[in-house]
Amino acid sequence: SSPRSVDESSIETIVRPFKLNDMNYREIMHLMIEKFKEGLSAKTNPIATVKMFPTYVRSTPKGTEVGDFLALDLGGTNFRVLHIKLDGQDTKMESKIFLIPQKIMSGTGTELFDHIADCIYKFVKEQQLLTHYLPLGFTFSFPCRQEGLDKAILTTWTKGFKCEGVEGENIVELLHAAIKRKGQLNIKCVAVINDTVGALMSCAHSDRMCSIGIILGTGTNACYIERLENVDIWNEDKNEPKQVIINTEWGAFGDDGCLDKILTDYDRQVDKHSINPGKQRFEKTISGMYMGELVRLILEKLRRHKLIFNGVGSEELSTRGRFYTKYVSEIESDIDDSFKNTKQVFQDLNLTNFMVEDCRIAQYVCSTISTRAAYLSAAGTAALIHKMGRSEVTVAVDGSLYRFHPHFHDLMVEKIKALCPLTRFRLMLSHDGSGKGAAIVASCATQEG
Ligand code: ADP
Repeated sequence: SSPRSVDESSIETIVRPFKLNDMNYREIMHLMIEKFKEGLSAKTNPIATVKMFPTYVRSTPKGTEVGDFLALDLGGTNFRVLHIKLDGQDTKMESKIFLIPQKIMSGTGTELFDHIADCIYKFVKEQQLLTHYLPLGFTFSFPCRQEGLDKAILTTWTKGFKCEGVEGENIVELLHAAIKRKGQLNIKCVAVINDTVGALMSCAHSDRMCSIGIILGTGTNACYIERLENVDIWNEDKNEPKQVIINTEWGAFGDDGCLDKILTDYDRQVDKHSINPGKQRFEKTISGMYMGELVRLILEKLRRHKLIFNGVGSEELSTRGRFYTKYVSEIESDIDDSFKNTKQVFQDLNLTNFMVEDCRIAQYVCSTISTRAAYLSAAGTAALIHKMGRSEVTVAVDGSLYRFHPHFHDLMVEKIKALCPLTRFRLMLSHDGSGKGAAIVASCATQEG
């Protein structure tokens, strides 16, 4: 009953490349397992795309950790400074969000770390902790080659950061130098982790089956517990516990071209216009920094073919990065033909000339893209589950995409079930991983040190 004759088959033609079948996902899972193995082997690691960094975190928490800690959380939209009191299962936490201005994100490393030290100072002063010595856990969510719990060398910036003079450097040294320049602070960074490890540790604090941590936010990444005998690149002590958490950096899966045949022209466009072309190809099919842009590119294509909005767009819809990933969640949350959220999004984008059919089409596009993202995340998760070979596992997941998208969790569960029919698994939302996880690791570090 649509007043226009919409050519469904053309819409279908345009979105079809995003619809992968079960065989595709199974193949992606097997490829991922192969890439994990390449990263873990000393011989192939130097040229491996999935880096499989050992984190120096060897055991999950007992759940009885105590003490006062500071934590920093840097690695995406928000920079946070936190004060955490661990007391067994009772954790108290105060935190403050600071902005990292765009100018600093693409400035120099010195500017970045001076800004961080300023923020720490402001927070510690507000919390009336200036006179206290506090060990600090740093959740630094970028790919780092670690040489110890407190020594992390940044390999490459991702997720829109590009500060000069940090790649190849030990970020703990840069932080300590900035803290020293600032003065008046009695703080020592005792551990660096990334957000995946934070999620895993925070969840393992209350669930001893937890052995995988996944982030689905601005970017995507995963970590898991691996047996030392499988970690050929591990050159440190082989004592008990004979395991180490591996930060996979799976966002870089596909950077060797192994995903090219399942990627679409839209994926190639997103990559081409990103700050890091050719890098983080898996991440760019999934995470919050890119998913909205994929949807926007398809909507623009549909509009040019007069298959949506009667061919009339807006400056906003034509603007790169202007279709936020949160719109995808909002649009997919509409459950009836009133399309309340979808209409709001259209208004936000200054699209005035639309009909109910356009809402339906937009929702269909969003669902196609987010379903592929969820299934790809599931293929990665299934790869980890197979790699570990456990019969039961809890997966800690954090990040706004997973948290707020109305179907992401269910879609992931459905596809993991299909790919790992013999494993009992559950996906658990991890709370405050970047803060609590960092404090837990800092607590272990101070006890051993
Ligand atoms: P981090 O930057 O540390 O990953 P988040 O987990 O909050 O922090 O992720 C932020 C990203 O999540 C943003 O890039 C944004 O694209 C995406 N996002 C924010 N809100 C939503 C939402 N409601 N639904 C889906 N994605 C969202």
